[in-house]
Amino acid sequence: MSKKLEVQSLSNWTGQSKKPLLIAGPCSAETETQVLATAREIKKINENIIFRAGIWKPRTRPGSFEGIGGLGLKWLKTVKQQTGLKTATEVANAKHVELCLENGVDVLWVGARTTANPFSVQEIADALKGVDIPVLVKNPVNPDLQLWIGALERLNKSGITKMAAILRGFNSYEASIFRNPPQWDMAIQLKTALPQLPLICDPSHICGNTEMLDYISQKAMDLDLDGLMIETHIQPALAWSDAKQQITPAQLKKLVSALRVRKVNSDNKDFSDKLNELREKIDGIDEKLLSALHERLSVSEKIGAYKKENNVTILQTGRWNEIQEKLEMQSDLMGFERDWLKKLYALIHEASIKKQNEVMNS
Ligand code: PEP
Ligand code: MN
Repeated sequence: MSKKLEVQSLSNWTGQSKKPLLIAGPCSAETETQVLATAREIKKINENIIFRAGIWKPRTRPGSFEGIGGLGLKWLKTVKQQTGLKTATEVANAKHVELCLENGVDVLWVGARTTANPFSVQEIADALKGVDIPVLVKNPVNPDLQLWIGALERLNKSGITKMAAILRGFNSYEASIFRNPPQWDMAIQLKTALPQLPLICDPSHICGNTEMLDYISQKAMDLDLDGLMIETHIQPALAWSDAKQQITPAQLKKLVSALRVRKVNSDNKDFSDKLNELREKIDGIDEKLLSALHERLSVSEKIGAYKKENNVTILQTGRWNEIQEKLEMQSDLMGFERDWLKKLYALIHEASIKKQNEVMNS
């Protein structure tokens, strides 16, 4: 299946060529005063920031604040009139789209729970047929790359070409320091599948707290992501939703000014010479690694033949445990992460077992 999307560059619709694109504003629009006060402070940081505020909030359980609804759209209109900032909000169905278009919202985004539901995404896409508006698509709550791409495709088929994806992290059953672990590999896979699609990071929903926002924002820049969406509230402690992860406009200003935005390449000759030298070294090491793996596999083949002759099982857990224990010690000594090295070795071991299996059953 082709994964080609027709996408315009970010600067085409943001009018800004400098990275990163910034989207900031409260998790939810709560009162007109809160919305306007936050927007005015954000405008002082940078007038190209797109002002976000959730109008309809998808809450996990009923009973908590589910968004101010249509009334908040009037406040977004006032933000635009008074500050000139572009506005953005989340849409989850056709009615939301209709109300946003009526009220002149500039940018729409599809939330993580909605991206996970093709019926809802299709409904939104149908409601947007023939409309020229930027739409951002957050990753689905579960790490399913095809579902994420599918949502982008549905919108693109409806004629939406001003689009970007947003990495907001993924649900995880494992304990984590993050609210939604970022799984950067998913971002890399999306960038590889759709290199022309801009990708924005949402550190707020990844972290779930304010302590790690700088770190995640910088990491997004280091991975060449195109922008940041950061929940910003005039009084975070009083926020009606996601209070723990929101920062003040002053904190946002500090975060943005500390960002180091790196170039993808440098025209400096010394830099490229040195880089080429290091890359050649890497290529050489890769060749040695592959040869070593190849050699290891041919030894496995011999072991397979020997076990067959002696009618012995392939898997001897004692031996595998011994290898694992040695690995733990070695990874500590060499400064590798234990889990990473174990995963790598599990793959190598799998290939070895497969090879022995082939030999024994030949
Ligand atoms: C939000 O942006 O406030 C939001 C609800 O995000 P997500 O869809 O990523 O959970
Ligand atoms: Mn939120």
